[in-house]
Amino acid sequence: MLLYNSLTKRKEEFIPLQKGKVTMYNCGPTVYGQPSIGNYRSFLVADLLKRYLQYQGYQVNQVMNITDVGHLENDSDTGEDKLEKKARQEKKEPLEIARLYEESFHRDIKKLNIIPAEVYPRATEHIQDMIDLVQLLLDKGIAYEAGGSIYFDLTRFPEYGKLSGNTLEDLIAGKRVEIKKEKRNPFDFALWIHNPDHLMQWEAPWGKGYPGWHLECSVMSIKYLGETIDIHTGGEDNKFPHHECEIAQSEAATGKQFVRFWLHIKHLLVNGGKMSKSLGNTYTIADIEAKGFSLRALRYFLISGHYRQNLNFTFDALEAAEKALAKIQNFLELIRKSDNQHADLNELIEQAKEKFRDSLGDDLNISGALAAVFDFMRKINTLISDGKISRKNSEEIITLMRKFDSILAVMDFTEERETKGVETELIQLLLSYRSEFKASKNWQMADRIRDDLKKMGIHLKDTPDGTIWSIE
Ligand SMILES: [Zn+2]
Repeated sequence: MLLYNSLTKRKEEFIPLQKGKVTMYNCGPTVYGQPSIGNYRSFLVADLLKRYLQYQGYQVNQVMNITDVGHLENDSDTGEDKLEKKARQEKKEPLEIARLYEESFHRDIKKLNIIPAEVYPRATEHIQDMIDLVQLLLDKGIAYEAGGSIYFDLTRFPEYGKLSGNTLEDLIAGKRVEIKKEKRNPFDFALWIHNPDHLMQWEAPWGKGYPGWHLECSVMSIKYLGETIDIHTGGEDNKFPHHECEIAQSEAATGKQFVRFWLHIKHLLVNGGKMSKSLGNTYTIADIEAKGFSLRALRYFLISGHYRQNLNFTFDALEAAEKALAKIQNFLELIRKSDNQHADLNELIEQAKEKFRDSLGDDLNISGALAAVFDFMRKINTLISDGKISRKNSEEIITLMRKFDSILAVMDFTEERETKGVETELIQLLLSYRSEFKASKNWQMADRIRDDLKKMGIHLKDTPDGTIWSIE
């Protein structure tokens, strides 16, 4: 498999450190509100990757953190803790807020058919591990105490900037203003923050405080997956400073490479523009459900664009996703009922499988994979129109569609869905009227039924054995 590695800025052959096993860490949600569908795009890319690796026979050990402390408003060392701000607004305890939104996060990922990670560690339950890492950095002289807080000394980690390009030199030359005077260097970042106003506080050897957001990811990744992991994913906004700081802390502590492959997922746009809470144009899973769209369609839409390109969310696009899924469902329905001549599908199936697998294997090229699915369906539809596709064929086809869906996870294989059953019966009814019209030489009405059905995407073909219909 080829993956674009943000660290080396090129596509590289992905071979895991351990044969047959992949370790993957994903920056998870900060549980102070409902995640937006943009956050879910990022989690869905991780799911797509996990499913593809499993499809290829790998055992994937995936960890996604739950941030329930320390994520400040501006992703750096200033601003209020996002969780505490929400708690203050709602007059609740910070952890009450955290558990509430963590639960709804788990409900959402289930609805989106995301395979759960092996572990979802919470930051507040790993405070001692974080203190240990900070102590190690203090002992090594890489971190220092100032005003009760502990900072990472960037001058002690010359490789800082290797992921994002923001080297210490460039930062100093740039115009970013730092307000904390106690730091040795203005761009040193906080590992442990001393702030008596913070609601959540823990005892540490150097005094009370709470951990910085970057610290938790380093600590939990090392704890659950080891000092060097295969893949780390996150939204593109996580690249700097978050991931850059994760690398600095981890590599300074262990002396080993922290992550082999970094994957960054581009933003989800809304109507061509930025999606943000301040603009009031963020959508949550509940918003999409309330508008009557299926979450299968949302999943389909969110995975349908390549992760290294922005994806533009509009309700028209979601509508189009619903239509694409209806096409697949109609196809499955048609296949189940097909009982015609047998056709040799081996080559067709092998080609489709190969194209699907090779596309995803090329840095998760989802368009290519979806094209393989729809091409296959089109070819089968042609065979159906030619009076082919036996009961045995339909089994082969369904097996392949299930294989595709083990990665896409958008299809419904429940048999005899009530409404679809009725639709099929209605088409059969119209066909029987049409043959009566034909028998009485009422060509006008017979053609009208054929043309009207065609407008609905239902194609009729008259054969010596009767009329066959197919959906395109
Ligand atoms: Zn993280």
